Amino acid sequence: SDSFDRYEYDVVVIGAGGAGLRAAIEARSRGLRTAVITKTLLGKAHTVMAEGGAAAAMGNGNPKDNWQVHFRDTMRGGKFLNDWRMAELHAKEAPTRIWELEHWGALFDRTAEGLISQRNFGGHEYPRLAHVGDRTGLEVIRTLQQRLVALQRADAEEFGDPEARLKVFDETTITRLLTDDGRVSGAFGYVRQTGEFVVLAAPTVILATGGLGKMYTVTSNSWDYTADGHALALRAGAELVNMEFIQFHPTGMVWPPSVRGVLVTEGVRGDGGVLRNSESRRFMFDYVPEVFRSIYAETEAEADRWYADPENNRRPPELLPRDEVARAINSEVKAGRGSPHGGVFLDVSTRMSPEEIRRRLPAMHHQFAELAGVDITREPMEVGPTAHYVMGGMRVDADTTATTLPGLFAAGECASGMHGSNRLGGNSLSDLFIFGARAGAGAAEYLALLGDSRPAVHETAVADALAEALAPYDREDGENPYEVHQALQRVMTELVGIVRDGDELAKALGELELLRERAEHVRVEGDRLYHTGWHLTFDLRNMALIAECVARSALERNESRGGHTRGDFPAMDPSWRGVVLTCRDHDGRVHLSRRVMPPMRADLVALFEPDELRKYFTESELAQLGVAR
Ligand code: FAD
Repeated sequence: SDSFDRYEYDVVVIGAGGAGLRAAIEARSRGLRTAVITKTLLGKAHTVMAEGGAAAAMGNGNPKDNWQVHFRDTMRGGKFLNDWRMAELHAKEAPTRIWELEHWGALFDRTAEGLISQRNFGGHEYPRLAHVGDRTGLEVIRTLQQRLVALQRADAEEFGDPEARLKVFDETTITRLLTDDGRVSGAFGYVRQTGEFVVLAAPTVILATGGLGKMYTVTSNSWDYTADGHALALRAGAELVNMEFIQFHPTGMVWPPSVRGVLVTEGVRGDGGVLRNSESRRFMFDYVPEVFRSIYAETEAEADRWYADPENNRRPPELLPRDEVARAINSEVKAGRGSPHGGVFLDVSTRMSPEEIRRRLPAMHHQFAELAGVDITREPMEVGPTAHYVMGGMRVDADTTATTLPGLFAAGECASGMHGSNRLGGNSLSDLFIFGARAGAGAAEYLALLGDSRPAVHETAVADALAEALAPYDREDGENPYEVHQALQRVMTELVGIVRDGDELAKALGELELLRERAEHVRVEGDRLYHTGWHLTFDLRNMALIAECVARSALERNESRGGHTRGDFPAMDPSWRGVVLTCRDHDGRVHLSRRVMPPMRADLVALFEPDELRKYFTESELAQLGVAR
């Protein structure tokens, strides 16, 4: 049938989290007719759940902070696999983007002098996270939405129509990108409530769809994190990179089972929370890796002094980057030193008064009281690793966020490069605003060059997308999509989890091949009105495809680095440092290749001590960079 709604825009932004909203504001501010599409209700994107804050070297917590220090921390956190240009832009532009939010009405917590307050977080040398208690994401989304509404009001005055240049399609899922002769030409999707289809023609599409945590059993992510953007991009011909790097946040709730995986913010450790095993030992002191040994405390006494006197003491090992802490907890539990429900203990009650805990960590206090019956002002929390963030995603140009498919841009969690092999906490929120704005600008530049030669929407492609969407209704003997989803989660959790192994990854690939086949043959019945089973058929195909990218890349990378740990290759290998694994789609099959990153610019190299670079780079790279032996 041809009864579906058709629209035409200059820019279609898929995703209404921090990255998508910031991109849409930029595109509309440049006069472009912009649509924002979101699977959820507006305001319900993942970004709303962000707790700890946004990292920006404003220097309010310590005047010694600046973009160079932030850049160094980010590169160290990512184990030097980061796209250094993205890390540079991020470190330089983060303060401006935070002040911009403040200007638009965001009410950040303040210092006594009235500056934006900044808190400590893992891997950040100085207090750097701008925050609103432990509910930062809520304030950020509220602010961006308010900005969006202000732009719509301006259009109402000018054109008599608030949606003249900026329209939000909420509860709408995009299932396919449309292309014309190797360029993006639009998107196809459906409205979740009605099951009706929509076609959006546009010469530029910005993907801001977030991550993929729902392919794991235990995750901090919400239901909409099903790798959609990754799969849309791959199928349309764009490249994905770094897919082996998944961040397992060290501290998710482990009990009760119904809330397993729900996040416990790193702010708890930033504000003084300590980790202990069943023997009451602060075990993180046993897990400080060689590359970080000089900057972390060796004794509890020194770590304790750091909170009051950071100038003369080194930071506690609880504040190591996330990959290190997650692996340490995993090892303690495996060694039989875990808490009763298979985690470890995280305690702030010995460090802060109950009033201070309730003021600084209100959401955590509430979350544990309501969900677990635990009073964190008096008792420790039980915590363990939870699938949290994907460092892998679309390969993008740092300055414009252009993907390898003309007209397609990507920003936020679904893009890759910025965080290398491991993201530092707080670096995602700032990433969203910086590269969201750059995506809007990149799309505007592309459109200006395009002139009148706009790509076409081909009716055969629309018919294909429609047939694909309806296929689960036509199958006589398909499977239940929920069962296939659970099977996929089990394979990813058991065989492609925190610590991986070559044999297990090979086994996972075998199982994933079958699961991809099963995902193509699921069946649903009934009408299409808010049919969650039907919705899952799309999510499932996406997760199954992208799970294969994760497993394939993980098997290829014979080393451990950041969010990729191989039990059979436990060390970091300098010969892998500059190598990025790239996934492409070849007629439905995932094709993997290696790409060597360009050498870091000399002025950025000069920000590091040669001794530190020697821990990561090969001899020949050091020679190429002009670093003396
Ligand atoms: P999102 O905010 O997730 O938005 C994705 C959007 O895409 C949604 O609107 C979704 O509906 C839409 N979408 C997806 N697929 C489709 C489709 N097929 N069709 C249409 N729409 C689609 N980071 C920090 O820096 N600091 C923190 O303190 C912090 N705390 C966190 C706490 C929690 C509990 C979690 C889970 C993450 C936290 N993070 C934090 C990470 C950070 O919040 C996310 O990485 C970030 O918000 C992602 O933003 P985004 O704009 O890329 O995507």
